Amino acid sequence: MYEYIASNIDRVKERIKKAAERSGRSVDDIVLIAVTKTVDVERIKAAVNYGIKDLGENRVQELTAKYPYISDDVRWHMIGRLQTNKVKYIIDRVSLIHSVDSLKLLKEIDKRSEIANRMMDILIEVNVAGEASKGGVAVEDVIDFVKQSAVFENIRIKGLMTVAPQTDDPEIVRPYFAQMKELSFKIEKLKLDNVEMKYLSMGMSGDFEVAIEEGSNMVRIGTAIFGERPINT
Ligand SMILES: *Cc1c(COP(=O)(O)O)cnc(C)c1O
Repeated sequence: MYEYIASNIDRVKERIKKAAERSGRSVDDIVLIAVTKTVDVERIKAAVNYGIKDLGENRVQELTAKYPYISDDVRWHMIGRLQTNKVKYIIDRVSLIHSVDSLKLLKEIDKRSEIANRMMDILIEVNVAGEASKGGVAVEDVIDFVKQSAVFENIRIKGLMTVAPQTDDPEIVRPYFAQMKELSFKIEKLKLDNVEMKYLSMGMSGDFEVAIEEGSNMVRIGTAIFGERPINT
């Protein structure tokens, strides 16, 4: 019934494999997150049954609504803008929060993690192209922000995330991906406690191959797996 999902996953994995090989890595070095926003539970289950282990949602309400229906074996990723008053709803459900860009949010994640008696892994979101419409820390502020973020006892910083500008030609955004890789090198060299540049979360359906070539090891893919979404989502 959902054979197109299986064949889309095959195709995406093949493209990831080739891009990884072009950058001297293997497909196993790249985490594939299937982005399930607007996708119903049955289609998500089809993807999970076909081997998808990581799911990404950008809205708290959608994540919590689908969560009970999906196997415990998957890791959930919060990839969208997160309001502080909603942290409590996802704290015991997600493996990684990709979209952290304020101290206020860090404080709330720290507090809720302590209450839930867990460590939370997070990524710092970088607004790599300085787009007014997007969240994320400005490139020039990232290092200071990471230093300030490293002090929370219940949070571990696991890398950086970005959403590149939308474009029909991914070559246009290649320099932004390269800049992200450079930034993560710089941060790694600081050897801060609680900070490990393990993941570079970048690359979506339209630009993931270029992102991988430039060093991404975590791609967030929706459309290329599940098909086009209704507009305005
Ligand atoms: C929707 C979304 C994606 C996936 O986008 P596609 O172009 O459908 O692959 C990735 N990251 C974030 C933050 C998203 O909101």
